Amino acid sequence: MSGPIVIRDLYKKYADNYALNGLDLTIDTGQIYGILGPNGSGKTTLLRIICSLLEMTSGYVRLGNLNPMMDGEKVKSAVGYVPETPALYESLTPLEYFSFVCSVRGIGEDVMERRVRNLVEAFGISDKVDNFIGSLSFGTKQKVAIISAILHDPEYLILDEGMNGLDPRSAKILKDLLQDFASHGKTVIFSTHILEVAESVCNRISILFNGKIVIEGTMEDMRSEMGQKQSNLEDIFLKLTGDEDLKPVIETLKRTLR
Ligand code: ADP
Repeated sequence: MSGPIVIRDLYKKYADNYALNGLDLTIDTGQIYGILGPNGSGKTTLLRIICSLLEMTSGYVRLGNLNPMMDGEKVKSAVGYVPETPALYESLTPLEYFSFVCSVRGIGEDVMERRVRNLVEAFGISDKVDNFIGSLSFGTKQKVAIISAILHDPEYLILDEGMNGLDPRSAKILKDLLQDFASHGKTVIFSTHILEVAESVCNRISILFNGKIVIEGTMEDMRSEMGQKQSNLEDIFLKLTGDEDLKPVIETLKRTLR
């Protein structure tokens, strides 16, 4: 079922505004891939289309041989998605919520108990699994959302601003988990508007701006491009920094690549 994510000429129009403008992207299996861009650049829109949670206006999207427009249920089984603001049932406890997720996903009790125990221990929330979700901190809710997204052992894990609200220890656990996930040939897509986060987690990144990818590659690619063909990146920066919104991203990128 697993295979590369291939996106060609993807457009998404909301009312009269294009959030994605002819986006092309290929993500190989086993990657931890960062989608970086300022707020409003189209990250959430892109991720929701890949997960079959949002219809595209036009274009080509495949996860292996799955088409999110035609194979919605199969895509949802193959993908674990952690939205930027997870909508959890506040009146359930994490354990009740995990049990609910497993019943929807058709995961048996034995497997569920083992996976829940391992993940809950790894994220350090064993003492919170019987509290109401509504009473938990933002960071703990984020951990509950991450655990519930991976309980069914998906081939693709997609996190929208996944480090949000996580303390350094939990961020490290998540990073280790993503690396373990990728080392088993699974694919991780991780969006963020902070380059340092992408750099610490991802082995390849794209920078999205106005619904198109403007820079793509490994951090090493970008560093060597900066050294050897400085004018190319400088040209891109010059073109892009005309836009006030992108300045913080470009400034961070320049700092990191220095
Ligand atoms: P990001 O995740 O990078 O912040 P989004 O994908 O959320 O970007 O948004 C991209 C653009 O699409 C923004 O201009 C945003 O205002 C617009 N947009 C997003 N969702 C909707 C919606 N449901 N209706 C109308 N416009 C939307």
